[in-house]
Amino acid sequence: MTEVTIDGVTKTFQDSNGEIVAVDDVTIEIEDGEFLVLVGPSGCGKSTTLRMVAGLETVTDGSIRLDGRSIEHRQPKDRNVAMVFQSYALYPHMTVRENMRFGLEESTDLGDEEMDRLVEESAEMMGIGELLDRKPSDLSGGQQQRVALGRAIVRDPDVFLMDEPLSNLDAKLRSQMRTELQRIQEELGVTTIYVTHDQTEAMTMSDRIAVLNDGRLMQVGTPLECYHRPANRFVADFIGDPSMNFVDVTRRDDALVTTDGGLTYPLAADVAANLGDATDLVLGVRPEDVEIDGGSAADEHTVAATIDVIEPTGDDNVVYLDLDDVDLSLVATVDGMRRLESGDEVTVGIPEDAIHVFDRATGEALH
Ligand code: ATP
Repeated sequence: MTEVTIDGVTKTFQDSNGEIVAVDDVTIEIEDGEFLVLVGPSGCGKSTTLRMVAGLETVTDGSIRLDGRSIEHRQPKDRNVAMVFQSYALYPHMTVRENMRFGLEESTDLGDEEMDRLVEESAEMMGIGELLDRKPSDLSGGQQQRVALGRAIVRDPDVFLMDEPLSNLDAKLRSQMRTELQRIQEELGVTTIYVTHDQTEAMTMSDRIAVLNDGRLMQVGTPLECYHRPANRFVADFIGDPSMNFVDVTRRDDALVTTDGGLTYPLAADVAANLGDATDLVLGVRPEDVEIDGGSAADEHTVAATIDVIEPTGDDNVVYLDLDDVDLSLVATVDGMRRLESGDEVTVGIPEDAIHVFDRATGEALH
């Protein structure tokens, strides 16, 4: 049973240009057995956060607790956490068996037989039972990553910390390993913090996602919460592929008007109530919510547009639209079977129940 509490944690580094705030007052409570993914663009502070939990970086301010007990002063080896890196970090001169035993020898005083049994069990679990006597150089990248994971599992840690462990694998292997990792994590029930910059990985693997930007926590929530109820424009933009459409608008009475005045979007009463006094806003709509030839041209939420480009992705078509009356483009995703062609004149509808509205200055989601 291990809960991890990252409580008001800040990390600053000094370099020749001065102070860098890599992690800025981040608080996340990770529940026992939870699979939490830290996600965000390059340089947002994901790895630094993970490394502080592992004890590979000191904490500048705040505290990190395992089951309520502060661990900042404990050496990495005394934290009972196992870290898996992108680079595998296997010892090249040792066999798979020796690599997996090494961590056990360091952290436990089990007898030889018991260690061998644990290594074999973990190797079986990772599907590398046949490879135990090989050296890392004789293994494929995928097999090396399995060994790195097996080496973490064999130690029976309280917490798994994983830093982009799948990013050196090709796309097919990566998606296979995602499923396998999830299965193993569920089976073992070990609290896991997993770092990635890949939002698909975050969406598919996690119980909850913590989105970081520029060292700050933008939102913690289930994948669906972050997708359907993003706390701010950053999360709305980062989660989802293709990204949400954003249009700068101004509030005028019970409507949103594009900043050039060309389009007016009437607001439902509940949406208008959520916006308060804010006037400088951004209207957001997910590509799959943009309707092509869905409603009648007379509908106030529908405009005329021309299809610019269509990108088939298999199941879906990604459709790039130019609106006819204003200088605006929108992206829509529609069923791959739909017959649409570039140059087609269509109507584009934005349903009232699909819109998001953000404060333009702060990025905060108002609706
Ligand atoms: P990536 O996905 O590219 O690995 P990240 O989100 O994991 O990025 P971090 O590696 O945590 O980001 O880095 C956060 C910030 O802290 C960056 O600006 C980085 O340059 C800086 N940083 C990290 N480690 C150090 C260090 N040892 N010295 C100085 N600056 C550092």
